[in-house]
Amino acid sequence: MTNRERIDCLAENAALPHAELRRLLLEHSPAEAELLFARARTTRERVYGKAVWLRGLIEFSSYCKNDCYYCGLRRSNAKAERYRLTAEEIYACCANGWALGFRTFVLQSGEDPWFTDARLCEIVAEIRRRWPDCAITLSLGERSRESYAALRTAGAERYLLRHETANAAHYARLHPAELRLASRMDCLLELRTLGYQVGCGFMVGSPGQDVDCLLDDLEFLCAFRPQMVGIGPFLPHGETPFAQEAPGTLEQTLFLLGVIRLLLPGVLLPATTALGTVHPLGREKGLLAGANIVMPNLSPVGVRKKYLLYDNKICTGEEAAECRLCLQRRVESVGYFIESARGDAAGWGTDGVF
Ligand code: SAH
Ligand code: SF4
Repeated sequence: MTNRERIDCLAENAALPHAELRRLLLEHSPAEAELLFARARTTRERVYGKAVWLRGLIEFSSYCKNDCYYCGLRRSNAKAERYRLTAEEIYACCANGWALGFRTFVLQSGEDPWFTDARLCEIVAEIRRRWPDCAITLSLGERSRESYAALRTAGAERYLLRHETANAAHYARLHPAELRLASRMDCLLELRTLGYQVGCGFMVGSPGQDVDCLLDDLEFLCAFRPQMVGIGPFLPHGETPFAQEAPGTLEQTLFLLGVIRLLLPGVLLPATTALGTVHPLGREKGLLAGANIVMPNLSPVGVRKKYLLYDNKICTGEEAAECRLCLQRRVESVGYFIESARGDAAGWGTDGVF
């Protein structure tokens, strides 16, 4: 097959034999990448039109008990400034976001044991009470089934837990031994069973990632069929063991966004902050490669520079309202528009399949 035939096959069948996908990932020209993006846009517009949905990100704690080698919040980073938002501060972020048209709030944090199930459930239930029509997404890392169940009952409907890599050897290269791929996968299955809309995903260009790791990731995504896939370039953080590693590239991230859009036509695909960090127009290009979600920061400006997963993170200085306007301009500059809606994955709530 030629690359053009491979891209057509992906677009027509939402599938491509393993060996052909491997060849496409390994070698393609800029013109072939453009063709992939055009096909991905057609698919995205068939399913979601030209609407882009917002997720308001509230980074409510920078404490983390884990020691992931890539992340600036890892417990061994003694230089990281730690903070926790109070419940009232979290509600203030939601109120601000609601007024700006946000209908999904994403509560994200390091793995912070201070936030027990009781504390978190109270916060989730209060957000549900004050803004009954919003969608509540959690991104708190690995927790017990009981914890996920209690949070679901309290009103959380979605959960983002990137699988990080579907290759066990690669997972061990990115994490200390106490963190295991099998545990991560168990969590994803529990979340699915409990009725969450689930997001997984991985960093592009993380240390040790090769084409076979990426093929494992894509195979996993096709088997698991998450509602969302979050991918962004790996970006080094100076106070981690990966400080000297090369960042993931814009080109490779965009190419993978296009491939994922064609493999999973109805999936929610964010143009991430990391993509906007690796290139000034990264998020716009992400939208043009098949992404349909943007996740502006709703965290209070005072804490934003303390939630540094990687260096040079963008959008750490602006108020939420400025971020919202800036993103609206960016989205409109590439021919899409922001729709103020909960933005559930296509097919969700009907038969759950898309
Ligand atoms: N503690 C939770 C949520 C916060 S981290 C968890 O780990 O799931 C959210 C995501 O940020 C991670 O899943 C990881 O994929 C990404 N991330 C962490 N460090 C990064 C880095 N150096 N470059 C790019 N992405 C990073
Ligand atoms: Fe903690 Fe998440 Fe960072 Fe790992 S990626 S150190 S779990 S915040």
